[in-house]
Amino acid sequence: MSTETAALKAIPGNQSFTEEQNFYLDGFFAGVRERAMVFADLFPGGVPGAEAPAEEEELTAEERIKREEHPLDSYYRLAANAVGNKAPDREDTFRFKWHGLFFLSPIKDSFMARLRIPGGILTSHQLRALASIASDLTTGYVQVTTRANFQIRLIQPKDTIEFLRRVQATGLHSQGSGADNIRNLTGNPTAGVDPVELIDCTPYLRAVGDAILHHRDFYNLPRKFNIAFDGGGLIGSVQDTNDIGIKAVKHKGAVAFRIALGGATGHKSFARDCGIVVEPKDIVEVVLAMVRVFIKNGDRSTRKKARLKHLLETWSLEKYVAETEAVLGRGIEKLPLAPDALVWNDETLPHSHIGVHPQKQKGLNYLGVALPIGQITPKQMIRLADLAENYGMGELRLTVWQNIVIPGIADAYVETVKKAVSKAGLDWKQSNVASGVIACTGNRYCKFTASDTKGHAAALTKYLEKRLTLDQPVNIHFTGCPHSCAQHYMGDIGLLGAKTHDGEEAYHVFVGGGFGSKQACGRQIFQAMTPDELYPTVERMLKTWIEKRGSADESFQSFVTRHDVNALQVLFSE
Ligand code: SF4
Repeated sequence: MSTETAALKAIPGNQSFTEEQNFYLDGFFAGVRERAMVFADLFPGGVPGAEAPAEEEELTAEERIKREEHPLDSYYRLAANAVGNKAPDREDTFRFKWHGLFFLSPIKDSFMARLRIPGGILTSHQLRALASIASDLTTGYVQVTTRANFQIRLIQPKDTIEFLRRVQATGLHSQGSGADNIRNLTGNPTAGVDPVELIDCTPYLRAVGDAILHHRDFYNLPRKFNIAFDGGGLIGSVQDTNDIGIKAVKHKGAVAFRIALGGATGHKSFARDCGIVVEPKDIVEVVLAMVRVFIKNGDRSTRKKARLKHLLETWSLEKYVAETEAVLGRGIEKLPLAPDALVWNDETLPHSHIGVHPQKQKGLNYLGVALPIGQITPKQMIRLADLAENYGMGELRLTVWQNIVIPGIADAYVETVKKAVSKAGLDWKQSNVASGVIACTGNRYCKFTASDTKGHAAALTKYLEKRLTLDQPVNIHFTGCPHSCAQHYMGDIGLLGAKTHDGEEAYHVFVGGGFGSKQACGRQIFQAMTPDELYPTVERMLKTWIEKRGSADESFQSFVTRHDVNALQVLFSE
């Protein structure tokens, strides 16, 4: 045992350190010595926690775990567990999320890894390497998430260190992709190639991502936190569903950013414009200052009130901006809160990321590949990586719609790539039904729901595709529980996992959700429908809309919005 560990053990209350804790502390102090520091350099005022401040009594269990040991420092135990292929205890299950590893017991006793892929942008080399990691170390079950990210499942404790090492070797990582951290940063999947975008946000998004990676203070937020950039192109980033949504606008003849705060669609809350405009050169600094305001002032005494949205229930947006200015040490240009003072580019097209579309670069196209409910095999990943490398610009983009875009395909190669995508068992054809169906993980791998959301989403898609053709896109969002990973409140049709009185898997049905210029939270019209009841009901809903809409171009959302819940129940039950 190191002398430092022995000194810590001598403090009253610390005598019961376990062997495992001793092991961790020895490793920790070895690192301290390597940096030519001593114990007193770390804690000049004494051992933190030895005299707990009164306010700590108010902290949640999660906050206590974080304060007792920074979760990133749990790596030594992750390594020790790997040696013995040992599952983590309850507290480490929470801490290991900081390494992007989620121990999913009791559904499957193994880890799920969630990566960080800023903007969902990957090189073909990275995609190929991830495919081989998934094949070698897991069952090969890979999903694209609604934050344009990859989740890779069924990693044994013994393989965690090897997994992290190989992911980091690709230039990607998984640090802080879950728990009380800033989740994967999202942007437009066609950034830089979109024919109408105001600005390519990728450099700003990456700069925010780099700052997070290199500053430990961004790894202790009161709760999860989402940030999205939108450069004003055809394919939106649903930025208004994020805690911080940054949207490019035209202002005084130049491109600038407006910022909206407090989105959390699981809580039926869209981000609200906070009345400032920020030049691109300042946007990274302002966004980071806004995160720091939340870190300092978010509620750490209850998990249920810890999101930014909750802080903004007690603070005005003006106060939040003033606190941001205090962190920055300077003012930010103010605008009226009403966004109509500006030109918003809201030409966002639903589903248009699937299929072939011309880029701003003459003679080049992007091809959106539809992944059935966000799933992809390692073999398909390798095939898409080859296509991006041979016919595109060597890059791929994951989308928040759980699909993949391959940009940079010359006109002459479009047909070749389309054929190759089909041969790989994937689809490039835009479908007004299938392209808009998204689903959260569901009960195959997530313990929070009893519903097989992915299975039911696939079955409903198949059912509808056989029975109807729509002339306008409709979004259908399956989510297993109120955490709302697939944002059921913002789908044209939102389906929330539930149980019938007899304990059968079922869904509550919501209609009328939307985002961007069509921002709205869906209203519930039916309760606890089993899949057998649900599929014909959704078919009837869509057919009724087509038959009874006011005009040929009336969207599903407008149709349901002009009827109250009772009227819709009657209409959709006829
Ligand atoms: Fe799991 Fe609920 Fe998220 Fe679905 S919405 S993945 S059930 S936590």
